[in-house]
Amino acid sequence: MARDNIRLFSSPFTRLSVLLYLLAAAVAAAPPEAEAEAAAGFPVKEPEELELLLVWAGPEARSDTAQPQPDYAGAAAFLRSEADALGLEAETLEFALGKPLVLLRWPGRRPSLPSLLLNSHTDVVPAEPLKWAHPPFSAHLDSSSSHIFARGSQDMKCVGMQYLEAIRRLRAAGFTPDRTIYLSFVPDEEIGGKDGAGAFASSSKFEEMNVGLVLDEGLASPGEEYRVFYGERCPWWLVIKARGAPGHGAKLYDGSAMENLMKSVEIIRRFRAAQFDLVKAGVKAEGEVVSVNLVYLKAGTPSPTGFVMNLQPSEAQVGLDVRVPPNANPEELERRIAEEWAPSSRNMTFEFKQKVSVYDMFGKPVITPADNSNPWWTMLEEAIRKANVKLGKPEIFPASTDARYFRERGIPAFGFSPMANTPILLHDHNEFLNKDEYIKGIEIYESVIRGLASYNEHAKDEESRAEL
Ligand SMILES: [Zn+2]
Repeated sequence: MARDNIRLFSSPFTRLSVLLYLLAAAVAAAPPEAEAEAAAGFPVKEPEELELLLVWAGPEARSDTAQPQPDYAGAAAFLRSEADALGLEAETLEFALGKPLVLLRWPGRRPSLPSLLLNSHTDVVPAEPLKWAHPPFSAHLDSSSSHIFARGSQDMKCVGMQYLEAIRRLRAAGFTPDRTIYLSFVPDEEIGGKDGAGAFASSSKFEEMNVGLVLDEGLASPGEEYRVFYGERCPWWLVIKARGAPGHGAKLYDGSAMENLMKSVEIIRRFRAAQFDLVKAGVKAEGEVVSVNLVYLKAGTPSPTGFVMNLQPSEAQVGLDVRVPPNANPEELERRIAEEWAPSSRNMTFEFKQKVSVYDMFGKPVITPADNSNPWWTMLEEAIRKANVKLGKPEIFPASTDARYFRERGIPAFGFSPMANTPILLHDHNEFLNKDEYIKGIEIYESVIRGLASYNEHAKDEESRAEL
């Protein structure tokens, strides 16, 4: 698709990066034909639509935002420079010192309508460079596979830059949104998001924005169908402690702490297997079952060389990462924990290190309806369909994202990262996204933003019109 070439090389960051990219493409280990092309002075075609991602996920823009020491200042400078180039309004909010959140705004023609918020996080998880085929922070475009290797190429620097590219295309096509569009680039998602999306969602600024719908990250899909998420499992980090009489290591007796604990571990293991079997049999998706994983076991009496070997300890504990779907019955699970996993009759206790509620602040399950009852869903589904791609059945996200902070407040939020035919490599070595899939994603967002930002004159009934 044609686009305004005037903008290419317009910001200092992209200019520098593209130059470096061209240099690297000419010098680096490229296949002979590419080398010959570079030597013959042919332009490298890719950067035009890829440039933003190659910079945002690469080293040139000082946008190395890997935890635990993300360069948020460099990232904010890059984002603001791109916002200027695009003609978007920009402000930097700082809910925690040194953790800027960049908020961009494209004013709608009807500002009283609820706005659309396109969220993405600026930080990424760290990487072990030696285990990667290409340096993880170099945004390497592999010339034979057309894969872009970069930390953040899936999670989720791709999405942030696709939003911007889609907006560039829409503006070039003369589109003006009815509702105001915001883009938030938030810090700290990878460490829980409390100082990022968490603080933002509860701020007066957010209130003022009158957000009607949030789009946030999803997951890659190894198949043809794109994935969309309407809720996520809630982490319950559970510690179960067992007590029992201590005793000589040679003595057989009932009710030791270890025996009590291991009985529970066996019951939990069976519950886990039953849940996992539902997934393996295809009866339920991963996000629809309760997952339970043992994360630590702690027991024994330390000695200078390890543990005392002839003593049965009086205490033992296990740590469990439990993830609960928001449409599960939490009371039933709590009863199971109290009666079967940690029964006081076996001298056991339990506590939650973290227990995220499956209900929002209005007492409803923390999910965004993904059916015809929700006009936002209808609009999203239609806009994705208009981009000529297939959408899978809406899912519950198996882990946590920033979307929960918005859903908790009753704001509809969908998780969607347009990556089909792509292995799920977030947080993995050699995280990559194919360049064609990335560009296809820009087209999808173009359709999605156009659809969601336009006032639905033809909404079926008065009630949904009023809502939107
Ligand atoms: Zn992410």
